[in-house]
Amino acid sequence: MTRTTMDDITAEYAAQDLAVSEPLRAVAKVTVAAKTDLGRIRENNEDKFEFYISEEESVLATKGQIFLVCDGMGGHAAGQIASELSCKCFIDTYLNHPTLDADSALRESVVAANRLVNLVGVSNPQRRGMGTTLSGLVLRQGEAKVVQVGDSRVYRFRNEVLEQITTDHTYVEELVRLGVLPREQAERHPQKNVLVRAIGAEDTVQPDIFTLDLQTGDRFLLCSDGLINHVPDVAIAEALRDLDPAKAAWTLISQALLGGGTDNVTVLIVRVDEVQTFEHSPL
Ligand code: CA
Repeated sequence: MTRTTMDDITAEYAAQDLAVSEPLRAVAKVTVAAKTDLGRIRENNEDKFEFYISEEESVLATKGQIFLVCDGMGGHAAGQIASELSCKCFIDTYLNHPTLDADSALRESVVAANRLVNLVGVSNPQRRGMGTTLSGLVLRQGEAKVVQVGDSRVYRFRNEVLEQITTDHTYVEELVRLGVLPREQAERHPQKNVLVRAIGAEDTVQPDIFTLDLQTGDRFLLCSDGLINHVPDVAIAEALRDLDPAKAAWTLISQALLGGGTDNVTVLIVRVDEVQTFEHSPL
């Protein structure tokens, strides 16, 4: 194991990145709803969601609003611990990260969550092999950042179009991308749950990070695969378009249960009601 000293940590940031604040240029007014359910077969819920919406201008400017879904795995309640630790560690690290560069703050928060889950997994025999997915959304300064490890998903609904922002980190998705497996067969593939990237699986992990513009009326959905397995895209799009976030969350969960409820299911919906912008005169 390598040890990280304080010198190593601070050496990663250039002096100009260590500025403590920046002016608030834009803030998204949002309506949020989230719901998680055990499903109809499982005996414990290894899914977890969190969000952090500050009212402090400085936090909104430097960090933004944070939304997260993690889907743990590992048996003997280890998956529950993995998703819980991952959510807490990711948000804690991100909020306390000294750089204003959102991408590196997000990447290093994923690395920190991975390190913690991996460490707990290797040091306790009952929790060996535990891991979790992590799908995050950050709304900051008029932009959306999406951070992804695993096969939970982030969707955006805009102008009648539902778009999957994230790419699943699964063996099957890699086969599809390589052109070896037709997309129609992926859904029913026996190895469709095999992840090629997960928080905690190895001693480090590389997240995908996507940057999107933000428009009034955008709806984001973060969800675990317990939803995707039973609810088709067209039903997801309908719920996001026609229902307010709370009603949409409850409707999507009940559709997943009616469709079989074979897994824990979690949805977190963020509707952008307005993107307020602020003028700042140059100093
Ligand atoms: Ca799952």
